[in-house]
Amino acid sequence: MSSNQSLSERDLSVLWHPCTQMKDHETSPIIPIKKGQGVWLEDFDGNRYLDAISSWWVNLFGHANPSINAALKDQLDTLEQVIFAGFTHESAISLAEKLVEITPSGLTRCFYADNGSAAVEVALKMSFHYWRNLGQTQKTKFITLENSYHGETLGALAVGNVALYKETYAPLLMDVITVPGPDCYHREPGESWADYSTRRFALMEQALQQHGDSVCAVIIEPLVQCAGNMRMYDPVYLKLLRDACDKYNVHLIADEIAVGFGRTGTLFACEQAAISPDFICLSKGLTGGYLPLSAVLTTDRMYQAFYDDYQNMTAFLHSHSYTGNALACRAGLATLEIFQQHHIIEKNRALAATMAKAAARFHDHPNVAEVRQTGMILAIELVKNKQTREAYPWQERRGLKVYQYALSKGVLLRPLGNVIYFMPPYIVTEEELLLIADVAWQGIQRAIKD
Ligand SMILES: *Cc1c(COP(=O)(O)O)cnc(C)c1O
Repeated sequence: MSSNQSLSERDLSVLWHPCTQMKDHETSPIIPIKKGQGVWLEDFDGNRYLDAISSWWVNLFGHANPSINAALKDQLDTLEQVIFAGFTHESAISLAEKLVEITPSGLTRCFYADNGSAAVEVALKMSFHYWRNLGQTQKTKFITLENSYHGETLGALAVGNVALYKETYAPLLMDVITVPGPDCYHREPGESWADYSTRRFALMEQALQQHGDSVCAVIIEPLVQCAGNMRMYDPVYLKLLRDACDKYNVHLIADEIAVGFGRTGTLFACEQAAISPDFICLSKGLTGGYLPLSAVLTTDRMYQAFYDDYQNMTAFLHSHSYTGNALACRAGLATLEIFQQHHIIEKNRALAATMAKAAARFHDHPNVAEVRQTGMILAIELVKNKQTREAYPWQERRGLKVYQYALSKGVLLRPLGNVIYFMPPYIVTEEELLLIADVAWQGIQRAIKD
């Protein structure tokens, strides 16, 4: 019979895991999961873990969700996958129709890819290619924000700005224009998020003014820079950015791969600024956390710039083998049905308030510089010194101690450096939120010792 130990031995002799120094597993066990049910995961020794980070931000309505399962079983007996050039299928069409309907206005075309990074590559290439098709070949650059994250493939990595992932590969990456960001952690005492975000926008305006002619697009993560330690900013920045992009003739790419599908309190983060980007990138929650799929939605104007006689060579020839996978699209449809049928966005308002209440005690913790929240994302910034906000040296890996303690208490937290965050599936209960907060508190107590 399989046990945690037998499976981890087999795993560690053949597998290479993402985002991991594999040597860490000499001291920290890898956990083989046998099954999932709702917010709970269960390993082969019968231990249970509350999935407080939605399995890397993808899961929205729990593991083994009955309605998504039923939809997938039906799809499986009908069509699993078909080439998506020259052919199409009902689930891909219905999902695209729904996405066009629910995303910000003006986004009327849906291009599928199979993961978040690929969606970012698609948006970058489409933007560049659009200008080229218009004869504007001087537009070859992208503007990105400090502390941003857009994925790990080379193009996506180039427009990201988290040194931990990027620095090693710098010689391989295209040049981008990096603008200081609106991250409100750095606002002055007493300064509002809106004031700070507005003030910081001047730097973006400056960059656009200076480089607009050679820039294809600005790419941003609306409202929350998730991989960049869950740093947050005010919607006013998005509004100003939309206006400026129009003024300087530059596209706006909204990477809502992490923040889309209700994470920030609205279905899409852009809604909070009442703006429509030229491209929106979606993945992660798109299939409820079931299957890899991503979508880039764009405008009719973009589409028309590629639509021409074949001989003119303006077509967007980008492709992935599993583009528009039928099972993944069906999971997406089932996920969107849950949003609609169960009034999730409305219900999440109460749930976000419950989350805030559960984490209220952290504000006064002597090693917490900030507790910040945007909708269903709550982050706790652990520091060495609350007054000066001096950070713990990263080498001390305090967050890892929180992670290990939490696992021993049956909660899956996965701090980003010294930032502990809660990003649970939307079916989490008040009792479970209190458990998450309690375990995080105890974990922090252990992590700050010595
Ligand atoms: C996760 C993420 C990506 C990359 O998606 P993958 O599916 O992991 O390639 C891109 N952008 C943002 C904002 C993300 O959070």
